[in-house]
Amino acid sequence: MTPGLPLPAGLALLLHAPSPAPTPAQPPPPPDTTTPRVVILGTGTPNADPDRWGPAVAVVAGGRAYLVDAGAGVVRRAAAAARDHGIAALAPEGLDRLFITHLHSDHTVGLPDVILSPWVLDRPEAIRIFGPPGTAAMVAHIEEAWREDIHMRLFGLEPRDANRDAYRAPVTETTGGPVYEDDNVRVTAIPVLHGSWPHALGYRFETAGRTIVISGDARPSESLVEACGGCDILVHEVYSAEAFQGREPEWQAYHARAHTSTAELADIATRARPGLLVLYHQLYWGATDDDLVREIREAGYGGRVVSAADLDVY
Ligand SMILES: [Zn+2]
Ligand SMILES: [Zn+2]
Repeated sequence: MTPGLPLPAGLALLLHAPSPAPTPAQPPPPPDTTTPRVVILGTGTPNADPDRWGPAVAVVAGGRAYLVDAGAGVVRRAAAAARDHGIAALAPEGLDRLFITHLHSDHTVGLPDVILSPWVLDRPEAIRIFGPPGTAAMVAHIEEAWREDIHMRLFGLEPRDANRDAYRAPVTETTGGPVYEDDNVRVTAIPVLHGSWPHALGYRFETAGRTIVISGDARPSESLVEACGGCDILVHEVYSAEAFQGREPEWQAYHARAHTSTAELADIATRARPGLLVLYHQLYWGATDDDLVREIREAGYGGRVVSAADLDVY
C-alpha cells in the first residue's frame, strides 16, 4: 500500500479496530488421579499428517504412565498431555515403562526419544521396555548409535551424577502372556495377526477398576476378542472399508492382511463387547472420523464408539 493514501473506510476500521481482549484460558479441570485413564498421545500412521503424530497410547494408573508404542514425537506428545490435562505422570521424567506392539518404524521411530530425552531431563531410573523378539536388538543398536552423545553427557560438563545409568533400557521380550505386574497394573501381551510379522502384540491392562485392551496393528484377531471379553475400553486400529475400495489392488492385498476394516471391526467389537470402542491408528484415505463411525454402525455394531484424536483422554 502506498503511504499517505487515504484508506477506504471499511479497511481503516479493520486496521484500527482495537483487538478484542484475550479471553482468559479456561483452567484445566482438577486432575482425577484415581480413575485409570487411556491417553491417546498419537493416532498417526506413516502418513505425515501434521495433526496426527506417531502412534502412542498411555495407560495412566496409580500415578504412573504405561506407554504403548513410541511413534514420532512421543515425549512431546506426553508433555502436551501432562500440561493440557494435568496428568503429572506423563511429564518426561515419569516415562519409565514402555510396551512395544511390533517393530514397524512408525511405532518405534520415537524409541531413541523416549529412551534418551527423559534421561537428559533427570528421569531418575532407566526405562523398562517390553516387546516382541527383536526389541532388545533394536534398543542395543540405539544405544550404540548414540554412543558419542551418551559419552559426552556422562563425561562432559553436564551434571549427571543422580541418574548416570538411566539411559540404559532393559528389555523383556515376549511372544504373548503375562509380561508385567506392579501395584497398579497387570499387563498381558496378546499375540495378534499383522501382515508377515512373526510376532506382533496387543496389550491388556488390568487396573484397579478398569480393564483396557489396545490392539496394536492387527488384522482381525480372535485373540483380541478374547482378551477384551467385556473389557471397559478397547482401543483398536481401523481403516475405512469404503475408501479401501479405491485403493490399488496391491495395497488392498496388503491392508487386508495387515489391518482391520470398519466392517471387520464391527464384528470384532460386537463379540468383544467393550464398554467403549476407541478407534485409533486410523487409515482414512479421504474418509472422515464420522465416516468411520458410520461405517461401523452400518455394519451392525450397536455399542459406544468414538474415533480418537491426538491427546484425547478416556
Ligand atoms: Zn504395523
Ligand atoms: Zn502401524
